[in-house]
Amino acid sequence: MKIDVLTLFPEMFTAVKSSILGKAEERGLLSVTMTNIRDYTLDKHNRADDYPFGGGAGMVMMAEPVFRAMEAVGAEGKRAIYMSPRGKILDQETIQQLAKEKELVILCGHYEGVDQRILDYWNMEEISIGDYILTGGELPAMVLIDSVARMIPEVLKSTHAALDESVYSGLLEYPQYTKPREYRNMQVPEVLVSGNHKLIHLWKFENSLLLTKDRRPDLFEKFVNQAQNLPKEEKRILEKILELDL
Ligand code: SAM
Repeated sequence: MKIDVLTLFPEMFTAVKSSILGKAEERGLLSVTMTNIRDYTLDKHNRADDYPFGGGAGMVMMAEPVFRAMEAVGAEGKRAIYMSPRGKILDQETIQQLAKEKELVILCGHYEGVDQRILDYWNMEEISIGDYILTGGELPAMVLIDSVARMIPEVLKSTHAALDESVYSGLLEYPQYTKPREYRNMQVPEVLVSGNHKLIHLWKFENSLLLTKDRRPDLFEKFVNQAQNLPKEEKRILEKILELDL
């Protein structure tokens, strides 16, 4: 997947060049290129923002440098996203859908946002990462890139890793433990070191259900409504938990 990011702060994007995403780039599975919108300004002060027409607080990013940057990255006809608190809230369904694209263009706003004509002309989809306001679209863009990149086949070593994760599986993830078996008098649940894969699987399933019922009743209800085809033992566990009054 090729992602072009248009930003006034390209130096912020070190996070998408390290760890799993950095490796994905080395392996040719992902390419993230930052374009500095300021390089496409036309005035001698490299000004990319101006006062809003009609008044109001703050500055607005101007159409000209963004249009020129969009043209420079060949954005015509590509799926273009503007990170925006006015947008649709990013969820796993959107992430999986975006992961099927070959190319994406992401625009990061700053100050009070961008000139509306940019969004209209380039037919930009607005995506928010939550109901709060950040200083700029850079962190939201990194959240989007990270979550989408994980869904590209082969980026994670094992597809099970992605399928097991909280939310993706429809449930929150069960508690995890690693060495040592005992730490400050706290033990790892016996079943996890039993070597009995069936029992381990059922323990994980049960604990995922318990956590989800407790913390995310919305997800739990959705899971229950779609759980007609569960294997016998999993079904029994679910029925037991449904009887519990947590
Ligand atoms: N005046 C804008 C409004 O009320 O909708 C907020 C501007 S915000 C200070 C600056 C930029 O940060 C936005 O243009 C957007 O690109 C980005 N941004 C802020 N919060 C965001 C969020 N929750 N999700 C996605 N992008 C966000």
